Amino acid sequence: MSKDNDCLFCRIIAGEIPSEKVYEDDTTYAFKDINPKAKVHVLVVPKKHHPNVAALAKEDAGQLAHMVQVAQSIADEAFHGEYRLVFNTGKDAGQTVFHVHAHVLTGEVLDE
Ligand code: 5GP
Repeated sequence: MSKDNDCLFCRIIAGEIPSEKVYEDDTTYAFKDINPKAKVHVLVVPKKHHPNVAALAKEDAGQLAHMVQVAQSIADEAFHGEYRLVFNTGKDAGQTVFHVHAHVLTGEVLDE
């Protein structure tokens, strides 16, 4: 599994930085966002480092599909299967951590 020692989410996945785990399997890790923007705000990440969702789609589309399935199962449990899925892509779009992550926002009715 490739790991970038300068990458915050690689270090969270490796357990070097604590996180509140929501889900884990061989390829994928999900944990609570430290600064939640909804009642339930979970970050879903592939264990392998990819800088953003465009790179992931090109390199491993199956992993991207799996992340959507994980997001769905989180929302199935938290809020009758409804959720917002956000991939900030690039600094000017608000991406601050350059390890692809899906924001799963759910657990309550969301503003438009
Ligand atoms: P971005 O802005 O890159 O789309 O999202 C990065 C997310 O990571 C932000 O929502 C931010 O709150 C979250 N985050 C940043 N540092 C940590 C951390 O150390 N632990 C956790 N659980 N979330 C973090």
